[in-house]
Amino acid sequence: MLQSARTKIVATVGPACGSVDKLAALIRLGVDVFRLNMAHGDRTRHQAMFDAIAAARDQTAIDIGVLVDLAGPKIRLGDLFAGDLDLGIGDQVDFVTGTITRSSHELTCTYEPLVAELEVGQQVLLSDGLIRLQVTSKTDDRAVCRVLDGGVLRGRQGVNVPGAHFSAPAMDVVDLDNARWAIAQGVEYLSLSFVRRPEEIIQLKEMVQAAGGHSQVIAKIEKREALDCLDEIVKVTDGVMVARGDLGVEIEVQQTPIQQKRIVAACRKYGKPVIVATQMLESMHTNRRPTRAEVSDVANAILDGADACMLSGETAIGQYPTEAVTMMNRIMLETERAYPDREEAKPTPEPTSNITRAMVQGAGRIARQLSARAVVIVADSIAAARYKSQTRDFIPTIALSGHRHVVRGLALYWGILPYYADPEQINGLPKIKAFIAERAKTHWQLNDGDRV
Ligand code: PEP
Repeated sequence: MLQSARTKIVATVGPACGSVDKLAALIRLGVDVFRLNMAHGDRTRHQAMFDAIAAARDQTAIDIGVLVDLAGPKIRLGDLFAGDLDLGIGDQVDFVTGTITRSSHELTCTYEPLVAELEVGQQVLLSDGLIRLQVTSKTDDRAVCRVLDGGVLRGRQGVNVPGAHFSAPAMDVVDLDNARWAIAQGVEYLSLSFVRRPEEIIQLKEMVQAAGGHSQVIAKIEKREALDCLDEIVKVTDGVMVARGDLGVEIEVQQTPIQQKRIVAACRKYGKPVIVATQMLESMHTNRRPTRAEVSDVANAILDGADACMLSGETAIGQYPTEAVTMMNRIMLETERAYPDREEAKPTPEPTSNITRAMVQGAGRIARQLSARAVVIVADSIAAARYKSQTRDFIPTIALSGHRHVVRGLALYWGILPYYADPEQINGLPKIKAFIAERAKTHWQLNDGDRV
């Protein structure tokens, strides 16, 4: 649809939208990519969810993409001794080694060396940063902590230690197994949580390549260490996610808006797609309408130049998944009306020796001069459409391809309308023209006389 939003919607799947019919409804409302979060559930559930997405894709005949999100070195609490624990300021809790707790004030976690690597004076954040502890003393098997900010603690919640440099590998055996599964399923995007260095992204890309897969690797930026080598990570990755949930705990929360802008700008500079994620329409977990601040947040991400905005709990476990997707789509359409006038959103055409890149940039300019309604790229790989997306020239771009992985692999890219064609149907210019003419009115709302 030439009238659909240029900015893409990534929606996280979960019990609130897990049936084939619900997923199909979300696709029709504008979801471009579904995210499967490996931090929750087991293989049986992931496979069932993946199969449901595939069925929804068949039902709608819309080639949405799938993003498998690897948990990476996220540290989680173990189970608590006696269920939820209400912590007050000044209380004492201890991290202990091993997996067994002997009292309600002992905590274990999934990262074995945590006690050894914690330092006295360091702060430990739990429950998305709501609960704050400080390490006051240490022995070989225990880190004694005082509660600075209290709250109700639940088992399995995330543990963040801002500024710490832990020795955990980027991917443990579970991540590696999930990555192998995802590549074998042919997923279009594979994201890695808690990336710290470019080498971690290179490792995952090599794994995809060695397996003969097509998955594009997305670096989730949510650690200070990643911010410290942002350009190096962006250069090697296929795409980026601004993972504000953990980022807002790993750095001071008031620093996240500026870091978000910095990350988006780096992605624009290196021509990589970027997803802005987490709490975008948070209140729609339980409300039919978002807050003004949330609407502004989505709009500002678009104006900064994000390729995609992501819904997390809103679609996975919220009460109003369809309303959340509808609202996000509306904000995108409305905000994009102002987009072409925003100078900072426009690309600076750089000198290039890349012929494809120069051609797609030129195609956009020609289309504008001729008041064409669309540009069509016939694509064997994602490269040309990726360059076109980066020009942000607002001329809708139909990317026709005879390869499903190319069509679905372009779902995340701003302003690109991927479309599958039987390779024989688009073999040579006369056939391409006939193919477009046949579908012009029904698929892309083109009218007689419109230029393409
Ligand atoms: C985030 O932290 O913002 C994020 C997207 O990751 P997760 O949902 O896995 O916490």
